[in-house]
Amino acid sequence: MTAQPRMPAWLDPSPWLDGRGATPADVERALGCDAPGPRELAALLSPAARPFMEEMAQRARALTQRHFGRTISMYAPLYLANFCTNGCAYCGFASDRVQPRRRLEPPEVEEELAALKETGFEEVLLLTGERTPHAGFDYLLECVSLAARMFHAVGVEAFPMTTREYALLAEAGCSGVTLYQETYDPRQYDRLHRWGPKKDYLDRLDGPARAMEAGIRTVGLGVLLGLSDPVFDAVCLLRHAAHLQRDHWKSGITLSFPRLRPQSGNFSATFPVDEAGLARLVFAVRIVLPDVPLLLSTRERPEFRDGMAGLGISKMSAGSRTSVGGYGEADPATEGQFEVGDKRSVPDFCAMLRNRGLEPVFKNWDSVFRDAAGAGHG
Ligand code: SF4
Repeated sequence: MTAQPRMPAWLDPSPWLDGRGATPADVERALGCDAPGPRELAALLSPAARPFMEEMAQRARALTQRHFGRTISMYAPLYLANFCTNGCAYCGFASDRVQPRRRLEPPEVEEELAALKETGFEEVLLLTGERTPHAGFDYLLECVSLAARMFHAVGVEAFPMTTREYALLAEAGCSGVTLYQETYDPRQYDRLHRWGPKKDYLDRLDGPARAMEAGIRTVGLGVLLGLSDPVFDAVCLLRHAAHLQRDHWKSGITLSFPRLRPQSGNFSATFPVDEAGLARLVFAVRIVLPDVPLLLSTRERPEFRDGMAGLGISKMSAGSRTSVGGYGEADPATEGQFEVGDKRSVPDFCAMLRNRGLEPVFKNWDSVFRDAAGAGHG
């Protein structure tokens, strides 16, 4: 038995959790506040805020337009390998799930990258499970180098690494690291991460700071909604973001809102978050963090994604395949990490955005910064 992890003092959300008992007057105050923080976030997520959805949505839309214009940045995930030694109770790739396991060999990675590139993407997020002999750090580093030759922005969503490893990834052209804590509640974290290196709560918690120290320009944070009390987790997420922004102000932060989806293993949410709850969470976070990019993946169904585009959300994926080698398959036969909710093609998704007066943006200028620093591959 491992000892249960303790939360560091800088993360502890307890001083603000009484905001869950907010009154309508507290919610109005939070909506009109010039510099909203964790207390206001808790009030906007309290039961008293339910009748204020329309006001929250309008505020979220106005702030999103002020900071991001009428644009939606586009990115695509690419699953490199599904070997994993961890026992995350909520994941289809956990080591006790019966799944064909494979990793893409470098020539296959190039093929998948080329297939993605053809659909117009310029930003790719490379995903793997835990560090394993099949797909460890050196393999990931090689994949980042391959991707950086073809894409303007390369992100990695993988296991926590050392500062030196993150520095090597940055040198190879990686500009973003995503590392979700899944839940900040130490007791739930311990229960859900049944075995494996991911059981180390504090190592994971410190991963984003190590990435920023190493020169990674953007760090993505998030929780998996459904695992724990969403107000507890949302306040912790805000505290984590503030902690990183204070110490590493040169780097950027992005936040994502994945909800638990059906997956092999059939784990179901202990704290289910419905669409109205998710929308309110996005609006509330946009109100307290007006200039941080907020992401929504293809886990959600099309109608919901359409409604959220530009309404707090500023960055989205489309046409995603969550199985290893999925982009090369006409109709992927293997199961992915989770079920995709929005299966529309990239052109169909972009047409929807344009119909709503939004512009999909595929190109950003990360490679200019990267190449100026002498780390790009041209
Ligand atoms: S969530 Fe990640 S670390 Fe956990 S079992 Fe799935 S692939 Fe492995």
